[in-house]
Amino acid sequence: MTTANGLIQSRVEAWQKTHFRPLRNLAAAAATDIYSEAKFDGRVMSQEQFIAYCRELRAGDKLLPVQTVVVHHTATAESSYVNQTLTQTLRNFWNYYRRTKGWSGGPHSLIMSREPGIGLLNSLLYDGIHCAGNNTNSRGGEVCGNFTSVLPSGHLLDNAVVFFAGTLYAGKMTIDALKYHRMYGGTACPGNKLVANWAWFKGLVSAKLDEIIASETPPDPPDPTLEERVTELEGQVSALDESVTMLEDRVAALEGAVANLAAWQTTADSRIVSLESWREEREPDGK
Ligand SMILES: [Zn+2]
Repeated sequence: MTTANGLIQSRVEAWQKTHFRPLRNLAAAAATDIYSEAKFDGRVMSQEQFIAYCRELRAGDKLLPVQTVVVHHTATAESSYVNQTLTQTLRNFWNYYRRTKGWSGGPHSLIMSREPGIGLLNSLLYDGIHCAGNNTNSRGGEVCGNFTSVLPSGHLLDNAVVFFAGTLYAGKMTIDALKYHRMYGGTACPGNKLVANWAWFKGLVSAKLDEIIASETPPDPPDPTLEERVTELEGQVSALDESVTMLEDRVAALEGAVANLAAWQTTADSRIVSLESWREEREPDGK
């Protein structure tokens, strides 16, 4: 026999099955998608702009959990997308990772030879997808080109060096945090030639990291504390006291000189009187 409660319960369960669960799954999928889209940066920066951005990130400790920065190559020549703006290229790459591959993110930068040439793909604020087994607390930059038999050069090399040095700087990492994809296995990335010349590339990034650190503007000196200001004022008062004492000494010295002069004049007057009386004695009646 079906009770009223049982009837209600079965209706609720049926409703959950037909309406609530699909809605909930849809909402969860949408939330995941929105979150992934929020990870897309899409900005293109010059070397100067990127270094300035890295200074902001460093000042806010925004990249502190990050422990490695990984070098990749795209394995395709930059000329294959040279007819697009870098902004379009960034969107195309993002769509490829998100839609075609179905990843929740991508590498953090696409580095090209043009100026400005540092494209930000997956926000540096979030972990991306670029290095299987090492995506947590790592950041990855893809240098456009294939470095199996050639090395990056010119603007491309300069932009790459700035991206990797800037990201290390932003996360307060040392040069030892710089890695290349093949260190984690299962790939030819970033190409035999670049791997064979790793010490050279790492040296360039290290020098740039030192340069970025050396060009930090020194912080403003802190405002003096109340105690320091009181000490400073006391010093000024003490200097004034010394000046007053010196002036008093000089006044006393001058007064002494005036008294000497007065005494000298009195002596001179009395001598004149003596001389006059002596003359009168010698020449009575004015003769
Ligand atoms: Zn790679």
